[in-house]
Amino acid sequence: MIKSILQSIPTYVMSIFLLPKTLLDDIEKMLNSFWWGHSGDNGRGLHWLSWERLSVRKDYGGMGFKNLQAFNMAMLGKQAWNLITRPSNLVTKLLKAKYFPNCDFFESSIGHNPSYVWRSIWSSKSLVKGGCRWTIGTGEHINIWEQHWLKEGMPLTTPFDMQRFGDITKVKDLMLINSKTWDFDKIRGIFDNITLRRIMQTPLYASVRDDKLVWKLEQDSVYSVRSAYKQCVNDAGYQDRHGVAGQWNNIWHAKIPPKVKNLIWRIGRNVLPTRKKLNSRGVQCPMHCVVCNDGDEDSTHVLFSCTRSVQCWQQAGLWAHIGTGLVANNNIAENLFSILHRLNKDQQELFCVLVWSIWKRRNNKVWEDATDSDQTVVERAKHLITSWRSAQQIRQSAHITQPSHQQTVWTKPRHGRYKCNVDASFSLDRNKVGFGMCLRDDHGRFVAARTEWIEPIVDVEIGEAIGLLHALKW
Ligand SMILES: [Zn+2]
Repeated sequence: MIKSILQSIPTYVMSIFLLPKTLLDDIEKMLNSFWWGHSGDNGRGLHWLSWERLSVRKDYGGMGFKNLQAFNMAMLGKQAWNLITRPSNLVTKLLKAKYFPNCDFFESSIGHNPSYVWRSIWSSKSLVKGGCRWTIGTGEHINIWEQHWLKEGMPLTTPFDMQRFGDITKVKDLMLINSKTWDFDKIRGIFDNITLRRIMQTPLYASVRDDKLVWKLEQDSVYSVRSAYKQCVNDAGYQDRHGVAGQWNNIWHAKIPPKVKNLIWRIGRNVLPTRKKLNSRGVQCPMHCVVCNDGDEDSTHVLFSCTRSVQCWQQAGLWAHIGTGLVANNNIAENLFSILHRLNKDQQELFCVLVWSIWKRRNNKVWEDATDSDQTVVERAKHLITSWRSAQQIRQSAHITQPSHQQTVWTKPRHGRYKCNVDASFSLDRNKVGFGMCLRDDHGRFVAARTEWIEPIVDVEIGEAIGLLHALKW
């Protein structure tokens, strides 16, 4: 829901305007509350991780949501790219005449009293510059010291003693006259060996006639928001700062129900709402484990130290691996990945669902004062995995008869048409059905969105149908 609808609402505005950081922060805060409000079974209302942490890639321990600031920049970069590569466009002509009549976009300054649009596009300059590289035609338009033209896409560093280089300013000055070849002797005479090698490794293709800027981050050399976003996130070091190392893909690729993956992810990020954790966030509640009444309840206790949990692991035949897999005192993420590493695929899946079932026993006790036996816990885990697998098989065999893709990908509507996507969500405890609708045009651009809800809760098929009806009436 967050990825398909909420994140795409501000897309259109973001492709033209640089949104103020405070506004982006507010939107991210709203998305964050939405996420935590709908994903937890308790501890509701607490935001366990910031949006920065959630927007880290999934293999770095995040949820892969968008970092809106980086996304905004990548969208604006697209406009900047158009200014560079489409000189005959009306918009390009207008902006060029007003803001950079005597130079190119990269040399342009923001100017006096710039319009909001120009200021926005201009702000993406360094991102676009970092992702560009020149392919060498005649070499007469490429400045050796300022523009990115070497094979690896970097410029040469400006030397201290410029006089030594005389009138060598353009790439063409390093090429033989009337020949598309590097002037080896000349280059060797003025540069050190490392620079010489870098230049000689930069290819000169006879087929490239004119100097041309290409986007070096995509195979087809054309700017893409996806690659620019990735670059922007990497440059800012988000993954390193907000990610957590671990074999997260083992979890995401496991054949287990999504709710189990989500729980394992929470444990790995150390945000399982145990009593000790809740206390640390200012929630007043007793600290002891409700299942064994012995010891404080933190993630390590609930899963691996509680005598009742150990009995479950023993019954399931996994304790031998788990006991030896516990490597660090109280570092739940390290222990989790160390255990997963020791298990084969089938054991990993059983481990994950049993974690879920053990946590469920704890919740049943806390919220409903129900006591599940160890056998119930193990049986529930096994039942979940077998019923989920058989549901997957039915779904897969249904897919074989339909020639559609396994993964549903959003496609643009036909030319001149709009597409409306609708989804319903069901909240048992609020006794409500919520609907989200998002309208996009034939370029995939956001047009409008709407949310509604009804009471009381109804069956899934009926809820989805009512959602469609609301969209038709909209
Ligand atoms: Zn216990």
